[in-house]
Amino acid sequence: MIQNKAPGKDVSIEDMKEKFPLVAKKDSTHFSDFEVAGVTFGSKLIPVMAGPNMVENESLIVETALQVKKAGAHFLRGGAFKPLSFPYRSEKYTETREDGIKWLGIAKKESGLGIITEVMEEKYLDMICDVADILQIGSRNMQNYPLITEAAKTKKPLMIKRHYGASLRDWLGAAEYALYAGNKKVILCERGVSVPHTHKDSSRFLLDLQVVPAAKEITHLPIAVDPSHATFWRPWVKPMALASIAAGCDSVMLEVHPDPENSAVDPLQPIDFSAFGGLMEEMNNIATCIGRSLRDD
Ligand code: PEP
Ligand code: MN
Repeated sequence: MIQNKAPGKDVSIEDMKEKFPLVAKKDSTHFSDFEVAGVTFGSKLIPVMAGPNMVENESLIVETALQVKKAGAHFLRGGAFKPLSFPYRSEKYTETREDGIKWLGIAKKESGLGIITEVMEEKYLDMICDVADILQIGSRNMQNYPLITEAAKTKKPLMIKRHYGASLRDWLGAAEYALYAGNKKVILCERGVSVPHTHKDSSRFLLDLQVVPAAKEITHLPIAVDPSHATFWRPWVKPMALASIAAGCDSVMLEVHPDPENSAVDPLQPIDFSAFGGLMEEMNNIATCIGRSLRDD
């Protein structure tokens, strides 16, 4: 039950009516579903988006696409334009940019999977839209309202990752920009938040699973969870992925790499193909318990 709190503190009834009327639920049973590349979000199905952090090269992305597809993934993820935290690059640790988008296009043809990839600058939107089925707005750009607006105008579905310092109210405000620009196909993705204490030495972020039911009280948009970025630590990806399904998320994003320890970016967090195959089974088992499924049939 949403309390009618003073505007400006958490989410109030006024916020739902005035600050994000398009994102807010009209009533308690209001949930949006929409189709992307033949896959429905926001229904019984829980689509899984899997792939490497970065589109490192053509063979890696094609191999990963075929393997994650075989294990039952619905979308291939991979960044070609990357919001890397520091400006320094090496031969391995670099963005593959236009080449990466081209390789995603090849992986899409080879596997038949839909593609989700990050967009960082408006000027590359047309090129990215030629290949992408979902445009990812990264956590660092969650409040880049001109970027969200222009990305929304392409009419491609957007996935807006929550900034690790953003409140639910700010996150919903970012999504409102997309709907206000005329795009109703928006997925919200929780990917871990920064906290001032709580095992800070062992984790960079804390997965805010409570935000899944909290968001679902307020918005009709599908909620995804990315346990890979949230935990930043391979052994914790599986338990948090299972917990995400149990918490009621509508989609899961997972980093999967053929040789996780040698991932060019964030090598501590991807899982390998075999772990991904097992996790897909286990996630489906949890989903079945709550009347949902990772399988289309
Ligand atoms: C990513 O998904 O590749 C990514 C950079 O995630 P985030 O924006 O959540 O850090
Ligand atoms: Mn990362």
